[in-house]
Amino acid sequence: MLLEATRCGAGASGRNGGFLQSSLTHGIGNGLSRFPDELERLERLGLENFRALTEDLERPAIDGELELTGDLIVALEPRELADLEEEAELLRRFGHDAELLDREQIRAEVNSPMYLGGLWTRTGSALVHPGKLGDGLRAAAARDGVRIHEYSPVRALRRTAAGVSVITDGGVVDARRVLLATSAYPPLLRAIGRYVAPVYDYVLATEPLGERMREAIGWAGRQGISDIGNQFHYYRLTADWRIVWGGYDAVYRYGGPVGPQLDDHEPTFAKLSQHFFATFPQLEGLRFSHRWGGAIDTCSRFSVFFGTALGGRVAYALGYTGLGVGASRFGARVGLDLLDGRETEVTALTIVRRRPVPFPPEPLRTGVIQLTRNRLAAADRNDGRRGIWLRTLDRMGLGFDS
Ligand SMILES: Cc1cc2nc3c(=O)[nH]c(=O)nc-3n(C[C@H](O)[C@H](O)[C@H](O)COP(=O)(O)OP(=O)(O)OC[C@H]3O[C@@H](n4cnc5c(N)ncnc54)[C@H](O)[C@@H]3O)c2cc1C
Repeated sequence: MLLEATRCGAGASGRNGGFLQSSLTHGIGNGLSRFPDELERLERLGLENFRALTEDLERPAIDGELELTGDLIVALEPRELADLEEEAELLRRFGHDAELLDREQIRAEVNSPMYLGGLWTRTGSALVHPGKLGDGLRAAAARDGVRIHEYSPVRALRRTAAGVSVITDGGVVDARRVLLATSAYPPLLRAIGRYVAPVYDYVLATEPLGERMREAIGWAGRQGISDIGNQFHYYRLTADWRIVWGGYDAVYRYGGPVGPQLDDHEPTFAKLSQHFFATFPQLEGLRFSHRWGGAIDTCSRFSVFFGTALGGRVAYALGYTGLGVGASRFGARVGLDLLDGRETEVTALTIVRRRPVPFPPEPLRTGVIQLTRNRLAAADRNDGRRGIWLRTLDRMGLGFDS
């Protein structure tokens, strides 16, 4: 039985950029710094998870508009070219098909005067339509016999002799086991709140590009694109040739509120729009038809973490920090293993056993996050050089990302 506070897919799953990536560690560089001994296995598990999900999406039963395009990372500053090379080397070391593109090659793929170089990764990277993926998974689960109760927020969990009472406004569900996947929303266990900070990410979508604009931009390969700075944009085409353009700002508010009243954020939309036309000046005159925001379950190591509570009757999997489209499938699988009390190759991994460094409580939390955001922006302005604050956090294994 699935209990959903609003509608399935109303959270991050239905409003993300649709970059489906094999990485379980929020990228290979982050994986290497945090799980060096396990990265090879995590990469293998990530690719298996990616393949299994794309196979599901190739079945006609789930239409998630899967496009096996790979993705491009682009450099906008000369110093970022070295970062691309480092990333390419790492990806190849772990078996990926990654090709460096020089200025002319990247602009031949996608025409932006800002691009200085690019990296095209063709393995473990695809695009999906997040809304359709959510709807397709929901329908597939219902066909498989899952009872889905939407608009049924869970208010509390109570341990009982045989299992767990799951309290909702309309009734109580007596469950043997419960898997929590509440993402950035107010957690049902106090322990989770120490590790997760809800960070808002905002997105614009344009009107469909006409033929003239399509010719002006190229992008025949339809890859998902992101730039490599600390504060990065991500963007992609939709099936009807709109551009979805998001990222850059990562907005944390005191106390970590989440709700529809925060889906709009004018200063970020203005910034995103300005950056869009700087990247694609030839699209001047194109209008944005949609805008939205969504909460990201940021944790200090940027990758899913797990735990159990109430004597092993409850397990949780969250903390994907903006890269959970593929990884949440893996998270669910591990969460179910934990509930079954099964010891597997996967449950023995450090990524499963060890939790991230917690964020401090408020008001310190807001101060630390704002300072870190500010220092990351400064590093982007300052040739990528990380100042003393970021270096200290790096040493402590504490980070902030979206
Ligand atoms: C704007 C944006 C862009 C992103 N882009 C990408 C991307 O391109 N690629 C990528 O890999 N990742 C991306 N992400 C992250 C990705 O969307 C998430 O990691 C992933 O969807 C998380 O899935 P989830 O099921 O854990 O959480 P969610 O999809 O947030 O689902 C959690 C659900 O739990 C429900 N819930 C919460 N509390 C309760 C309760 N008490 N009772 C009942 N139900 C409850 C919520 O209503 C919600 O539906 C992005 C996220 C955002 C916000």
